[in-house]
Amino acid sequence: MNAGNQPAGISPWGAAQEVDYAALFAEFGIEPIETVLPDIPNPPAFFTRGIVKGHRDYGIIAKAIREHTPFYVITGFMPSGHPHLGHLMVMKEVVWHTRMGGKGYIAIADREAHAVRGTSWEDCRKYGEEYLRCLYALGYRGVSYYQSRNSRLQDLAFEAATKVNFSELTAIYGFGPETTLAHPVSVITQVADILFPQLDAGPAPTVVPVGVDQDPHLRLTRGIAHKLRMFTVEDRGDHISVRSKNAPDEAVDLIYRAFPGSKRYEGHIDVKGVPHERVADEVRRIEQARGGCAFYTPSSTYHIFMPGLQGGKMSSSVPESLFTFVDDDGSVSKKVMNTLTGGRSTVEEQRRLGGEPDRCSVYLLNLFHMVEDDAELREIHRACRAGELLCGPCKKATLERVRAFLKDFREKMDAVVLPEEG
Ligand code: SF4
Repeated sequence: MNAGNQPAGISPWGAAQEVDYAALFAEFGIEPIETVLPDIPNPPAFFTRGIVKGHRDYGIIAKAIREHTPFYVITGFMPSGHPHLGHLMVMKEVVWHTRMGGKGYIAIADREAHAVRGTSWEDCRKYGEEYLRCLYALGYRGVSYYQSRNSRLQDLAFEAATKVNFSELTAIYGFGPETTLAHPVSVITQVADILFPQLDAGPAPTVVPVGVDQDPHLRLTRGIAHKLRMFTVEDRGDHISVRSKNAPDEAVDLIYRAFPGSKRYEGHIDVKGVPHERVADEVRRIEQARGGCAFYTPSSTYHIFMPGLQGGKMSSSVPESLFTFVDDDGSVSKKVMNTLTGGRSTVEEQRRLGGEPDRCSVYLLNLFHMVEDDAELREIHRACRAGELLCGPCKKATLERVRAFLKDFREKMDAVVLPEEG
């Protein structure tokens, strides 16, 4: 699919591996993760090792974690094939957020798989269950659903569809005359996925951990979440401005009465002497009581992509680039032992010049998933660069870690009893 006005590498259906993150973040207003890192209690490795590189409005999530107030974490998986190494990071991010107090939601994007990849409904179900088994094996506890079986989600998608037109979708996704109608339906269903926790359990901050290629969905959803609100609440320095967007008169009256001394104008109210957060909370409460959505604009984190085992892009269409969690041991061994390294062409050269771990898929496999201890990871990096560690033994040690991980993971997956759909 044509990515429309997206720069190379940011279409959800055509992510390239080489992404200039700094330029991308600057262009789309994504903040570097460092701006919120000090606010995150005991940040896990995916934050501290530079795997999660950017965010939108994560401060409100960090605050909810610190203050033990409600928040949600939601992500979706497209069940068009077996879950694999490339899915592991976002799964870990979701599980970590649920451990930090977030209520979890997992959308199995079977409509998207059927629309975009032509996956049969039967296979969608089969692969969907595999994804859920992986998540539960990693410790996930929360809600999960299939898009095609969630009628409240579909109603929300329809409501969201009233707030976007075809030219906006074309600008974001590059839709053209040949695009089937299933594509925009799939897109608006994903918008509804992101907003669904707030419909299901009430307005609260929501974080969506994604790869940067998914940002178009986030931008679209944030815009729609805003359009679905009855009011806009803005801090104007010396006062808080509450603007009505077709809110019923009685809702405007209630807000006016809730803040004695406020000034009422045609379509807006100015509130003085009350903190922005308190005004925003009260407006949200009144909006919800009057039948409005009162959604928080969703937050997001952006992780980088682990490269394929053979370099380049990790993709299920390139089987050597990854292993799935159902691959047999022989196939996994072969793939790991054939992984592209940052080693030199001869042993003598490697001892003299050292390896290049930052360009090595073996090292990155360890950094992303296989070595939890930072000191151990630093030692691999140091020994490689010093020429003390050679690629053969390094790959063998990595394979042992992969085997141990898979053995444990598969046992846990087998033991999972999937809950009823939420
Ligand atoms: Fe990569 Fe290990 Fe070789 Fe270094 S020694 S280049 S980390 S495989």
